[in-house]
Amino acid sequence: MGAVQNPRHRAFHASTAATDIFSSRMQPAMTNPLLELDSLPRFDAILPAHVTPAIDELIGHADAAMAHAETVVLPTWDNLVAPLTYANERLWRAWRHVNHLQAVVNTPEIRQAFNENLPKMTAFGTRFGQHAMLYAQYQRLAESPAFPDLHPARRQVVNHALRDFRLGGVALPEEKKLRFAQVRQELSRLSAKFAENVLDATDNYTYHVEDAAALDGLPPEVVATAREKARQQGRTGWAFGLQMPVYLPVQMHAKDRSLRRALYLASIARASELDAPGRDNGPLVDQTLALRAELAGLLGFDNFASLSLATKMAETPAQVLDFVRNLASHARPMAQRERAELEAFARGELGLNTVEPWDVTWASVKLKQDRYGFSPQEVKQYFTEPKVLAGLFGTIESLYGVHFESDTAPVWHEDVRLYRVVDADGRVLGHCYMDLYAREGKRSGAWMDISRNRQRRGEALQTPVAHLVCNFGRGADGQPATLGHDEVITLFHEMGHCLHQLLTEVDEADVAGVAGVEWDAVELPSQFMENFCWEWRNLEGMSAHVETGAPIPFALFDRMLAAKNFHIGMTTSRHIEFSLLDMLLHSEFDSAADSVLASHQRIRDEVAAAPAHESDRFTRSFSHIFAGGYAAGYYSYKWAEVLSADVYDAFTEDPNQLATIGARFRSEVLARGGSRPAIENFRAFLGRDPDMTALLRQGGMVA
Ligand code: ZN
Repeated sequence: MGAVQNPRHRAFHASTAATDIFSSRMQPAMTNPLLELDSLPRFDAILPAHVTPAIDELIGHADAAMAHAETVVLPTWDNLVAPLTYANERLWRAWRHVNHLQAVVNTPEIRQAFNENLPKMTAFGTRFGQHAMLYAQYQRLAESPAFPDLHPARRQVVNHALRDFRLGGVALPEEKKLRFAQVRQELSRLSAKFAENVLDATDNYTYHVEDAAALDGLPPEVVATAREKARQQGRTGWAFGLQMPVYLPVQMHAKDRSLRRALYLASIARASELDAPGRDNGPLVDQTLALRAELAGLLGFDNFASLSLATKMAETPAQVLDFVRNLASHARPMAQRERAELEAFARGELGLNTVEPWDVTWASVKLKQDRYGFSPQEVKQYFTEPKVLAGLFGTIESLYGVHFESDTAPVWHEDVRLYRVVDADGRVLGHCYMDLYAREGKRSGAWMDISRNRQRRGEALQTPVAHLVCNFGRGADGQPATLGHDEVITLFHEMGHCLHQLLTEVDEADVAGVAGVEWDAVELPSQFMENFCWEWRNLEGMSAHVETGAPIPFALFDRMLAAKNFHIGMTTSRHIEFSLLDMLLHSEFDSAADSVLASHQRIRDEVAAAPAHESDRFTRSFSHIFAGGYAAGYYSYKWAEVLSADVYDAFTEDPNQLATIGARFRSEVLARGGSRPAIENFRAFLGRDPDMTALLRQGGMVA
């Protein structure tokens, strides 16, 4: 493979990689579909054996582009950034295809191919991010006289790159660089060990019962799971574990208080000093916090929270703390009212003199049934998949004027459908793959994934492609699948992410669609879409009873709507507690004078609706922040909800203006992607800063 030459004069397709593809097309037997990057992928033809040769070749091209970038004398967009972006984008795109297949049609072979290449991809990322000469070249470009005249999206790409180089430690003096790498290494080890301990604590617990009376109230599939677990342990009776599909139904439905209590107490003590020896996360939490503070210090930040916010929409820890406490001042009184009401109901109707922590969920389910009198199962009969999908497309059309049209291309499973998204003027904006049903070998949950980003090179435009993945159940005996209302909401949510990816008008891949969007703003378009699952006009149009074809009755919708905000004060308070805990541990916490457990206790006293149980060791299994990406970022959930509630408010002001407001939201927010800071997108759309009033009003927390 030759070095990348004369990038300024290259057309979109004429890279060394593309030339290789061209020559291999002459010999069909040699074709590697992972290297065909100028069309929609041949997903049906990608084999595990293609992965290593493709990734090796594309890493080779990307390394060559890096080597060439070092030699550029006067860095410009065209001779520095464009060729690097081109090579990197192709490499990461091929890798995303592998990652996607690994998630949706997992086999031991594809998993092995993925794991074999993962270290190479990680090493490549490090090689790029730590490349001091590359950083210097980007700096020279940013300081060049031509830089201010670059398109704003291009300036944003360069600024993001400079920021990421710095946050990766590239600008540190040598001795600090070494320590920085050690700290990062140790943090990733601690994070993996933390997750391992939580997993072991969850998996190794069993509560065994012999008396069938303990099963009262439980759904049959939970009873079957418990029976099977006991059988595997060579015992009679039933064995309950702490995995969510068992733990949650037990807390919700088990009439047996001692069963709920046992599982609750085991759950809150997971991976703590109260749990079995050898998996106490307490010391790991302390070490992680200390090392994160050190990492932030090396980069010149006051604390880890400030480092985390450097790439987010929120600016300072103080701003986040103010936001969270302000929300708490509204949510807590409501949570306390809900709590008092629950206690009265539990005393009067359920015969419980005190509501213990293991009673809260169970009593809440009873209260909700008592008050609103409908079951999710009843609602589910009305949401047949084809009708819901048609309703979703209709909603999108009325908001943004774009159509979803069926299209064909090779797919990875017969369930998968492909749509092209077409603008009012007939322009094809992008494509969306939908893979809606659960099956073996497919990761659980629902998500949007980028397949490729929009990118322009000269005259050639690469349009964006998104994956929408869900895990719905199939319909029985040839009937269409029916979706629960929560699943309809999930579908709308993920479609919101897809629209962010597909309606972009940005020509630079690194800031097009969801790329480069701040973590705490990226849920705006998705949460916004959820609102349309609560509008009568929409629901009526997208419901058809699976047997009678009748739309959902208004009386049932009315009860669903009334139940929408059930216990919203208590759930919001719980979010606030975790957000505050996360932010304080990463900003103000002083390990010499304080302990994590004592901090958590104080925060509960400040914001929670009820005191915690004395053996609550929640921080020991707070995986979001100690083993996930949410450190000093847990507040993002509520932060984005403020944005989406505020935006939705604007849409409801005048139903006749829907298309006009939709067009503005599309052009000022969705089309902009990460090319402009999220706060500027927001201001351009609403003409002011975000305000939590809409969220509070929609949640019934203010009049
Ligand atoms: Zn989301």
